[in-house]
Amino acid sequence: AAPAGPRTRTTETHCPYCSLQCGMAVTAGDRPATVVPLDFPTNRGGLCSKGWSAPELLDHPERLTRPLVRAVPGDRTSPLVESTWDEALGRVVAAIERTQAEHGRDAVGCFGGGSLTNEQAYQFGKFARVALRTSAIDYNGRFCMSSAVGAANRAFGIDRGMPFPLADVAEADVVVLVGSNPADTMPPAVQYLDAGRERGALHVAIDPRKTATARHAGLHLQPLPGTDLALANGLLHVAIAEGLVDEAYVAARTTGFEAVRDAVRSYWTDRVERITGVPVEQQRRTVFALAHARNAIILTARGAEQHSSGTDTATAWINLALALGLPGRPGSGWGTLTGQGNGQGGREHGQKADQLPGYRRLADPADRAHVAAVWGVDPDDLPMPGRSAFELLDALGTDGGVRTLLVLASNVAVSAPDARRVISRLGDLDFLAVSDFFLSETAALADVVLPSAMWAEESGTMTNLEGRVIRRRRALDPPDGVRDDLALLAELAGRLGTGHLFSADPATVFAELGRASAGGAADYSGITYERIDAEQGVFWPCPSGEDGAQQHPGTPRLFADRFATPDGRARFVPVHHVGAHEQPDAEYPYVLTTGRVLAQYQSGTQTRRTRSLQLVAPVPRAELHPDLASRLGIAHDDVVELATRRGRARFAAMVTDTIRPDTVFVPFHWGGGSSANALTDPALDPVSKMPAFKVCAVAVSRVGGP
Ligand code: SF4
Repeated sequence: AAPAGPRTRTTETHCPYCSLQCGMAVTAGDRPATVVPLDFPTNRGGLCSKGWSAPELLDHPERLTRPLVRAVPGDRTSPLVESTWDEALGRVVAAIERTQAEHGRDAVGCFGGGSLTNEQAYQFGKFARVALRTSAIDYNGRFCMSSAVGAANRAFGIDRGMPFPLADVAEADVVVLVGSNPADTMPPAVQYLDAGRERGALHVAIDPRKTATARHAGLHLQPLPGTDLALANGLLHVAIAEGLVDEAYVAARTTGFEAVRDAVRSYWTDRVERITGVPVEQQRRTVFALAHARNAIILTARGAEQHSSGTDTATAWINLALALGLPGRPGSGWGTLTGQGNGQGGREHGQKADQLPGYRRLADPADRAHVAAVWGVDPDDLPMPGRSAFELLDALGTDGGVRTLLVLASNVAVSAPDARRVISRLGDLDFLAVSDFFLSETAALADVVLPSAMWAEESGTMTNLEGRVIRRRRALDPPDGVRDDLALLAELAGRLGTGHLFSADPATVFAELGRASAGGAADYSGITYERIDAEQGVFWPCPSGEDGAQQHPGTPRLFADRFATPDGRARFVPVHHVGAHEQPDAEYPYVLTTGRVLAQYQSGTQTRRTRSLQLVAPVPRAELHPDLASRLGIAHDDVVELATRRGRARFAAMVTDTIRPDTVFVPFHWGGGSSANALTDPALDPVSKMPAFKVCAVAVSRVGGP
C-alpha cells in the first residue's frame, strides 16, 4: 500500500455485512480505503473475506453518484438518465401527492431493509406513519428472522435474537445448531465453537447438507428439509420418556407444559426417523447430551425458520430448551443467529407493518399514545397495521394495494420469493423510487433512483445478533452527489410539509429513538453514543431510569429471574409437524432448498461487484448428490435447469456427496436466469408471514455441458 498521506485518518467502525458486525478500523483519505480487524468482542481480531474486501466498493466504478430519472417521465421503457436531486425528489413527491389524492393514503408504500442503521430504520417507520400517514410499510427482515421472532415473542414475551452474549457459546458443553452454518455465513464466530471444542464440548449440526459447520461438528444429523419440527418434538418425546425433563424448572418458570407433553406423545423415535431420516440412535444421543450437559445452547437459523410453519418449528426447539431448563440458566439457552447486519435493530424501531419503536405495537392504544407524544402528533392520526412484506409486494398496483412505492436498502427483485411474480408486480406500479448505492435489479426497474451513502460514509448505530448496540462511524465523506438516507427522508418530509418533525442528524434521531423506546421491550433510552464508545457497545434493554438513579448497565443476559411475559413465566406452546407446503410429486420429484455461500451476501448487489469475491464464487452452483446426478445423466459443471411451479432457472452443477440424495441446494445471491427465488414458494407462515423459502418441489434436467 502507498504510504499514508497527511489527510489520511483511521476510524473504528464495523463491517457493513452480517449480524456479527465485526469491528474493523478503516483507513481512508489520500488513498483507497483499507480495513484491518479490531479486537472487538464479537470478532476478536477476525474478519471474513467479505469484511476484508468491503472497501473495494466505496469507489467502485458502478457506484451511483447522481440521481437517475426516466428520460420520459412515466415511461419505464425509456432510459434512466442522470438528473439533479431537485428534479428527482420533485418527481417522487409529485407521485406521492398524486397517488394519495387519487387512491388514498395507503396507496403509497415503503419497503425497508435490515441493513439500515437504527436511526434510518426508526426514521423510515416514522416517515411512513407521520409524513405519509400510510399503513403500507414493511421490510426485508420479514424474509429473514420473522419466524424466530414470532416464536420468541410467543414463548418469552420478547424477541432478542441471542438472549445471551456470543461468548457464552464458548462456555457451553453442548451446542446444537439447527439449520445454521456460521462457518460459511459468519466465519469469525466459529472461534467460539472452536474454543468449546478444545475443551471437549460436543457440537451437533442439524442440516440437510454436510456444510463446513457440520464437518467440524461431533455429530451431524441430516434431516429432510422441512422436518425440523418433527425432529424437535421427537427429541422432547425422548426427554420425557427417559426422565430427562427438568421438572423443577418447568414447575417454577414455565406454563403450559402438560399440553406439550400431550402433543409430543406420538413422536416416537422410529416414527420421527421415518419423517426426518434421522436415525433413532442420533436422536437419542443428541437429547441425552443436551440433558446431561452442564451448559447447553440450541441455536436455530434460517434453515429451520424459513418455512410456512417456521414459527412453529422455532417454537418446537424452544419447547425442548424449556423442558431441559436451559433459557435463563447461565451459559445456556435458545437463540437465533440473525442474518442481516442490522437484522435485530431493523425489526425494533418501526419498519415492520405492525410495530412502533421499542417493539411497541401499532394496534395497542397505550403504545400509540406514547410514541405519538414523542412524535408530536395525534395518536388518532397514526395508521393501523398494514400488510406484511410479501403481501404488500403481491398487491402492488392492484385496487387497494400500493401504487407508489419507496424502497430503501432492499433488492426485492432478487430476494423476494417467487421473484418473477414480484418483478411483474413492480411493473404494475404507477411509480417506483429506489434508494441504493448501485443499480440493483430493483433499482433498474425504478422511475427514480436516489444514490445513497455507504456504510463507511455514514454515522449511526446498529444492533448486532447479541442485542449489543454499536456505533457505525463515518470514516470518509460520501462522493459528491450522494446522500445519506436520513437526509433523504428529512428532505422528502420537508417537501411533504412535515420537515419540522424530521432531523437528518443521527445523534438527534438516536436521542429521539431512545425516548420513543423508553418503557418498551427494546428500551434504548439509557444508551448514548458516548456509552457505546466507552463500553464496546451496550446491550438492550437499557432504561434511562429516574433522575439521580444509578446508570443502568444494559442487559447482556435476559431471563435470569423472569421472562418478559405478564406472569414472568415462559410459555410452552404445543406444535405439530404438518410438513412442507409443497411436497415432491411425479412432476416435481425432488426437494429444493436455498441458502448462502461464503463469498456472497444476500441479493449480491455488493458482493457480485466485488472482484476478489467474484473470483471465489463467480457463478451460482446447484448442489446435487452423485446418486441423483448419475440417475439424471448429469456431470459436474454441466448446466442444469431447475423447474418449480413458479418458474425455471439454470445453474452449473456441483456434484457432491455432502447433500441428501433427494435434495437440491442453490444459493440465492443471483437474479436473472439463475435466480433461486424465481423458484421458491411464497406460501406464508400464518404467524410470522415468512415465505417458505427453504422447501419446495423441483424437477431437475441437464441442458448442456460445461
Ligand atoms: Fe463482515 Fe459478517 Fe464477515 Fe464479520 S463475519 S467480516 S460482519 S460479513
